Amino acid sequence: MITTGSAVEARRHTSNDLPLLEIEALEKRYGGREALRGVDIVLEPGQVVALLGPNGAGKTTLMSIVASVRRADAGRVRLDGVDLTNRHAESRQHIGYAPQELALYPNLTALQNLVFFGELCGLRGRELRRRIELVAGALRFEHLLARPLQRLSTGEKKRIHAAAALLHQPRLLLLDEPTTGADIETRAAILELVTTLAAEGTGILYATHYLFEVEELNARVVFIEEGMVLAEGHVVDLVREHGASAVELTFDGSAPDCGLEGARWQVNGSVLTVFCAEPASVAAEVIASIDDEASRLLQVELIRPGLDSVYLALRGRRFEGGSERSLP
Ligand code: ATP
Repeated sequence: MITTGSAVEARRHTSNDLPLLEIEALEKRYGGREALRGVDIVLEPGQVVALLGPNGAGKTTLMSIVASVRRADAGRVRLDGVDLTNRHAESRQHIGYAPQELALYPNLTALQNLVFFGELCGLRGRELRRRIELVAGALRFEHLLARPLQRLSTGEKKRIHAAAALLHQPRLLLLDEPTTGADIETRAAILELVTTLAAEGTGILYATHYLFEVEELNARVVFIEEGMVLAEGHVVDLVREHGASAVELTFDGSAPDCGLEGARWQVNGSVLTVFCAEPASVAAEVIASIDDEASRLLQVELIRPGLDSVYLALRGRRFEGGSERSLP
């Protein structure tokens, strides 16, 4: 719950045009490794922004800086126009953060954990109990409240973890891969709650590797790779701009070079991807063209225009000059 008197709250009342979250030219190094190299993101109230990118792209680093858990080396994070640097109390008050690693106490029950995190964010007494009941109902874990965390399954813990982050009705919610390891029911409950919270005006930054979740959430997408924003936009616009169909062939061992003339293709380990308008017919042509290598073929996947093809196209573009080849 938001209390009065903070700079963020004061600013919110004086200007309605400011974005909820502004991330500007954010940079972060770990020793010699550049994890973020000038990231800009804007998020409006009620918007879900999905952070997509391969392992090590910088998504967790970005979220942890927004949550004031880590410090940036350069750049700014503003909430309602207020710079959050050194404003840890306000960050905690207005931002809910469910990091990738579970940050709950294993010996405490689910209820005790939620009371602890709720009190940390300023909730007390009847209001705290009301919020716990509400969130437990929405995420369907009322039956788990009395159980110690360490005796819950991974998916059950995920629900408590997400609940702890949003108990205090933060204006901005940071969810770092909240559904990893969750079963279908938990995933559905989390996605439904994210949709409801966004409809109520909460801004949500949502890191995931599951592209279908992004489509289901109807999110604005920010693709990050090697600490930089590669592309951003609404799912529909990104698919229109970058989406391409392809056929993806997975081999036992290294994928062979594509034998098709005129095709644009790339090899990434055991996977050969051929970008083409008609993946079904091209799949047959590719198999015919690789002769004996076809005996090592494990799987053929036809990729239609969708977020996955956008992802592949963007990643493919990054391979240019590397392992991607286009036969004359
Ligand atoms: P994933 O999808 O695997 O969760 P990510 O996009 O969240 O990845 P980060 O965890 O932000 O990526 O990591 C970005 C880069 O920074 C990686 O190269 C990673 O190895 C490095 N890194 C992350 N945390 C540390 C740390 N504490 N010390 C040193 N390097 C780190």
